[in-house]
Amino acid sequence: MFNTEYPALGDDVLVAKEMAERLGGKTLSDLLHALWRGDCQTCGSSLISGPISVYAEIMLVMGHVSLHHPTCQVPLWNDGDGGGVIFCRPSLGDHVTYLHTSMIVDGIPIVLLNVSLEMASLSLDHDDKWYVSNVPLFRDYHKMFPGGPIPMPPLQPAVGISLEVSEDAIDIRSPQTWRIRPGAQVIDAVRRNGGLLLAISSMYHGQHMTPHVVNKVLQHPERTALGWISLRATPAPGAPAAEYAIYRNRHFTVAGLVLARNRRVDMAGEEAKEWGKGRAREFDELPAPSFIDHPVAYDDELSRWFMDAISLGMYVVVPAADGWRLIKSYSRFGERLPDTELSEWAGRVMQRKSHHRMAAVEWVAGPSSNAGEIMLSHVLPSDS
Ligand SMILES: [Zn+2]
Repeated sequence: MFNTEYPALGDDVLVAKEMAERLGGKTLSDLLHALWRGDCQTCGSSLISGPISVYAEIMLVMGHVSLHHPTCQVPLWNDGDGGGVIFCRPSLGDHVTYLHTSMIVDGIPIVLLNVSLEMASLSLDHDDKWYVSNVPLFRDYHKMFPGGPIPMPPLQPAVGISLEVSEDAIDIRSPQTWRIRPGAQVIDAVRRNGGLLLAISSMYHGQHMTPHVVNKVLQHPERTALGWISLRATPAPGAPAAEYAIYRNRHFTVAGLVLARNRRVDMAGEEAKEWGKGRAREFDELPAPSFIDHPVAYDDELSRWFMDAISLGMYVVVPAADGWRLIKSYSRFGERLPDTELSEWAGRVMQRKSHHRMAAVEWVAGPSSNAGEIMLSHVLPSDS
């Protein structure tokens, strides 16, 4: 008998003693249940048989856990001895496998997606205990529902995930892209319903998926998140890829996603902020105005920060030589980060905040102004 709640990693799992101690039995078990044999996160070749090494990279209150061949990476709890990460593996996440299946239930198209077989996230709770956070983070960030009985539309759509449907494929973007080819029936159902129900689950691993097992996966409250994803108009061919920015001035450094640009160089800060709020609301499909103006002390003469009080999303409008940009902040410092740390930090931020599967980010100097420096990067969505 096959049981999806049983880890498919087998007995040959090598875990550092320190990791077992830090996590404790329950969290370690949860973690190993959330990981599946895919590809080695160092060399990219299969982990289908043989021993597996578990590697954890810990950044204070968050961690990434990944699977490797023991010859590629020794089992390790890498937290820089509790003082923050001393070294990071910049390529982590390059070989992540995602798996999906699709179905139609009562006319509703459902896509079941595991966004990473070989990687999981850890977070520290309020009691300083680690828990496996892949799905909870996804659920909170995108305002999805916990797994449970299949909710029927109309539903409040998940925030920050969009859908594009072409002739034979569906792209789910958040902002990285998962391309799926579910067949004509599902694509028709998506068009008819104006969207699909997305189930993100760390339980789904592609095998032995009887209807009974699928049902169990969809209903798991912690390991599955459900969200309605609305269909948007497909952008014209050749539409630009997502643009990311690092901006720094005397007061702060921020890295994030560029949501909009306004070419009016003469616009004042307050006006730019109002423009930014309108665009942020539109982009993130925020249901009602819930912006707080000054959540942080980073404001300066020109830049303006605001925050969505419900999603806790932070936004900033910054001036550049060619106009204003609205940046959705993925991470920020209330200081100017030096050159030596800048691109490594921003690369890590992009990988973490966009969940997975982002190629190495290359930053190029943008149209900086006297107020601050801007660096830009286009990242093509990975669809392989
Ligand atoms: Zn390997």
